[in-house]
Amino acid sequence: MSKFDEREVYDKEICPCGSGDIYKKCCKKKKFKWIVENGNFYKRVKMDKELTKVLKEYMKWCENMYGRKLQDDDRMFWGYLPSEFGINEIRAMRKMQIPERQIFAYYETGRILTPQGTSKIPDIEIQEFYDSLEKYDRLMDPTNGPSSVFYTSKINAILKEDFMRYYEQLTFSFSYFIRKHIENVQDFLNYSVKNEIDFCGFCCIKSIRNLDSTKVLVENGLTENIYATNRFIFESYLYVLSLNENPSFFDEKIKPKVNEDDYSFSITKDGKINYNQVIHNETNEKFNLKISIKDLAYNSQFKEDRELYNLFYHYSSQFVHVDVLSAQGYFYESDPFQVIDESLIAALIGITFSILLLDQISIMSDTIFRKDIDYFVKRTKAELIPLYGLINGHPINKNEIFSVIMNRLQA
Ligand SMILES: [Zn+2]
Repeated sequence: MSKFDEREVYDKEICPCGSGDIYKKCCKKKKFKWIVENGNFYKRVKMDKELTKVLKEYMKWCENMYGRKLQDDDRMFWGYLPSEFGINEIRAMRKMQIPERQIFAYYETGRILTPQGTSKIPDIEIQEFYDSLEKYDRLMDPTNGPSSVFYTSKINAILKEDFMRYYEQLTFSFSYFIRKHIENVQDFLNYSVKNEIDFCGFCCIKSIRNLDSTKVLVENGLTENIYATNRFIFESYLYVLSLNENPSFFDEKIKPKVNEDDYSFSITKDGKINYNQVIHNETNEKFNLKISIKDLAYNSQFKEDRELYNLFYHYSSQFVHVDVLSAQGYFYESDPFQVIDESLIAALIGITFSILLLDQISIMSDTIFRKDIDYFVKRTKAELIPLYGLINGHPINKNEIFSVIMNRLQA
């Protein structure tokens, strides 16, 4: 940066901070200097020892990585996307458990105020920060009438708490199925799905892992990946539903894949394994095992599954859709005080699919398990419906898919 045309602000000039006072009576007494450079105002703060040390270490780190010293025209933090790129600082602050009102004031003013920091920023900016804290308190006080900030924050809190509870209960229930039905767990872990029960056990293990992933993803707000995980759960649900509704589904579509004695996967012309087709080892007869998820949804006895299938893929693809280069959720970060956290909604949908899956699995199980799960599923469905009602009552997050999910839960 060129030092050409740089000067300090004169005592009698109007202070650049915007207070309207002259410099001498305003920011001059602060622990920073206003600098005029090429006609623009900058604040110059003396770096403290700690910060200097951190920056030096950072520069060394960059040097080690790219094998050259940082130059004057290098951007200092080139490895970090600027906040306007939709990387959620607010989420990181919430994770650090900074009080919501401080986060709100940061979101509005772009500042965090520390006791030491007040000497380094103009009084007018300090006032803005305190005004913002007060504004938050006003918005969150229900005696002042309903505010969308209040409503949104309450829903976020409820969704977060409920997700954690259902996560525990569901992973417990999926494990319960495995412990109750799979006699030789060691054998099962060698992946030998011999019957419908084994297949359900496989879905249980998969769902536990999917829910584990969701738990990590929701903490980091990776909505598009929660939807990718939700897809696995939704498809497991449709598979087990088909096992229940179509008695020959397992023998025709799944068993040949795991019956190595009688069948082999066919090989494509370019030498790859085609997992959708098997050949009978003796008769050489070919069997097509390709399953269309759409067909499974459309053949469901629940007509709501059809709508759910259509809307779910449509709704979730707005968060990332590689083939059409659309990823609204990547580039556009919605106001975290006005819009319900989309990752919490995604997590709730994952919970819902898990409940539908567990419900179908229990149909295939022994009486005690079925009774236990039936109680749990019924209770949870009844609790989930009003949660979707809350989301659908939100002016921004409202969407047709939530009504369809509510209908499915009532079916
Ligand atoms: Zn000032």
